[in-house]
Amino acid sequence: MEHTIAAISTPNGVGGMGVIRISGENALLVAESIFNSVSGKKISEMKGYTASFGKIIDEGQIIDEAVALVFRSPHSYTGEDVVEISCHGGMYITKRVLRAVLSHGAKPAEGGEFTKRAFLNGKMGLTEAESVMELIAASGSQSARAALSAMEGSLRKRINGVRDELLNLAAHLAAWADYPEEEIPEIDESELRNGLLKCKSELKNLLSTYDAGKVMREGVDTVIAGRPNVGKSTLMNLLAGCERSIVTDIPGTTRDIIEETVMLGNVPLRLSDTAGLRNTNDIVESIGVKRAKERLLSAGLIFAVFDASSPLTEEDRQLIGLLENAPAVAIVNKTDLESKIDSDYIRSKVNHVVFISAKNDADTKQLENAVAEIAGTSKLDPSQGILANERQYSDAQKALHSIEEALTALDMGITFDAVTIIIEEAINCLLELTGERVTEAVVDQVFHRFCVGK
Ligand code: GDP
Repeated sequence: MEHTIAAISTPNGVGGMGVIRISGENALLVAESIFNSVSGKKISEMKGYTASFGKIIDEGQIIDEAVALVFRSPHSYTGEDVVEISCHGGMYITKRVLRAVLSHGAKPAEGGEFTKRAFLNGKMGLTEAESVMELIAASGSQSARAALSAMEGSLRKRINGVRDELLNLAAHLAAWADYPEEEIPEIDESELRNGLLKCKSELKNLLSTYDAGKVMREGVDTVIAGRPNVGKSTLMNLLAGCERSIVTDIPGTTRDIIEETVMLGNVPLRLSDTAGLRNTNDIVESIGVKRAKERLLSAGLIFAVFDASSPLTEEDRQLIGLLENAPAVAIVNKTDLESKIDSDYIRSKVNHVVFISAKNDADTKQLENAVAEIAGTSKLDPSQGILANERQYSDAQKALHSIEEALTALDMGITFDAVTIIIEEAINCLLELTGERVTEAVVDQVFHRFCVGK
């Protein structure tokens, strides 16, 4: 039997309300021992989905007024009896209520333990449990939508579609191999191949959305590059919506790397505003320049800024040279001034070119579209179920490898027995992905990353 656990489920800090969650066989009794309802009704006599107003009392002292909300097994988040005590938020009160709960028999919950219990009690699959965390961490609407859709089972359904197809093929092959005396029709090799090809293409589709999904969830390291005075700091301030970098008319004032995370459309960008690439004799600046080049080469995305009001310089051309085949947007800035730039040359070298006036123009839509295209998020449909983390990605990839191996084995004329074994390996990877057949170590690893109280 699992012990009863408790934790503060609201963030640690001053707030209007705090929630202490208790789950387990003794949840109702534990809550009852510290809660006196105004109506006189005992918590252990309350029905599920009902609430009661009363006082939290511990060691003979009133700690706070609170509402106790009762959920009865199996109709709760964890599948166990659950009581949620809503008291006043704050550093002291919530901790004091938790202490009272723990001194009456509950144990402190580990990170993710409520959700782990929900998984172990069959309330949700592993991919749904993982998406709970993604939902909490979501920074934009599209990543929240993707997490919500995974929580509702869209990813599991997609994986199960492939799994069922493979199970079908494996069962047929096994039956035919194990009972040769029965009249089981030999599986048609082209049927087998087509089935495998279907699974292969579905898994490939799924895997191809991973990078875009990751960008949407975790953001992308973005470097703003360009020679001094083209408007990098102004652009950064426009995107960040505040005066963050020092903007001056003297070239070379943005010496070091300044970071800021901003949302551009659905993509969080970790922006760094770097020094220009100008070769310089100033020691401090030249260190900045060297770091800028290093950052540029390792960036997930480059915003290369050019000044529309002056012809391209040697330094601009050097920068353009670095952009070919890189994930880059060339931003031609200062379009409010008379144009002297050779924008056709930039267009011939860089795929994505946008024109703005960072100083006057608050419209970043063009830039937003270019970023969505480069990051692949413009093609992403969050309701389709996408892979949410390395664990899921690696399982899906292993399954794909096995399917490819099975196809090669077929081409080489290897016996159906051996092909069956390879198909079963693919099935196992998919069962691990959805958590249907998963080791304790994997489960622990998944929930280890959760915060306490969820
Ligand atoms: P950085 O050295 O590349 O960071 O350039 P800054 O952002 O410091 O900008 C250099 C100068 O160009 C400042 O005086 C800005 O006000 C000016 N500037 C930036 N963007 C624009 C723009 O779109 N139009 C005009 N006319 N001036 C701009």
